[in-house]
Amino acid sequence: MKHPFVLAIMAVIATVSTDATFAHESHSHASSPQTQKKIVRLNTEKPKTQFVVQRQQVEVNPPELAKLFNPFKETVKVRFDDDFLYVESNGMPDHPMMTGITAWQQQVPLPQSYFGDNSWRIPLHPVPAKNPMSAKSHFFRGATALAVNGVPIFNPIKNDGKTDTLLAGELDQWGGHCGRVDDYHYHIAPMHLEKIVGVGNPVAVALDGYPIFGYSDPDRKSPENLDWLNGHIRFSVGDED
Ligand SMILES: [Zn+2]
Repeated sequence: MKHPFVLAIMAVIATVSTDATFAHESHSHASSPQTQKKIVRLNTEKPKTQFVVQRQQVEVNPPELAKLFNPFKETVKVRFDDDFLYVESNGMPDHPMMTGITAWQQQVPLPQSYFGDNSWRIPLHPVPAKNPMSAKSHFFRGATALAVNGVPIFNPIKNDGKTDTLLAGELDQWGGHCGRVDDYHYHIAPMHLEKIVGVGNPVAVALDGYPIFGYSDPDRKSPENLDWLNGHIRFSVGDED
């Protein structure tokens, strides 16, 4: 046979058209004994194909650090892997800005793009430094912490290494102002956030992974036994001395 395939197709067409021709005359809902047998077989035999329905991966519990940003989850998004927490925001607080500044730097607050590759990356398993450094003499450039409302926090001392931004009148009544690229940031701990997160809860997370508390422990008492960096097991914001 030269074209078995073509013949097979023609045979099928022939069958279909025959059925179609008699469809109305011999139409019956009663299944033939053969079909009934088939139905019984399909309902009783072990299926040849098995569908394995995989359970969706159980949602991993978010790390404690991630929960600190919860009160601001409308504008501050967090994601995490085994090692890092990634925090995304546009850096704009939900409070007014720039009120109370007496030494204006001629910048205006504009939304920033702390998203995607530019999101804040905070270690989830911080390790205390062998040789800790004080922010009084280091870390004058760039953010050192991130407030739980997604606004970065810089050293109280400006990037010239000597000007105290608060004393110089450069900060608004929320402790912030704008930098060179019109990025709004705080220069002191945003204690006003305690009104939202609750007194004694962290108001920020240092970029090395430690939460930053205000002037009170969760029991509302002043922290005791602070070391030379104004910290203890949990770091607290120290008073200027
Ligand atoms: Zn600044």
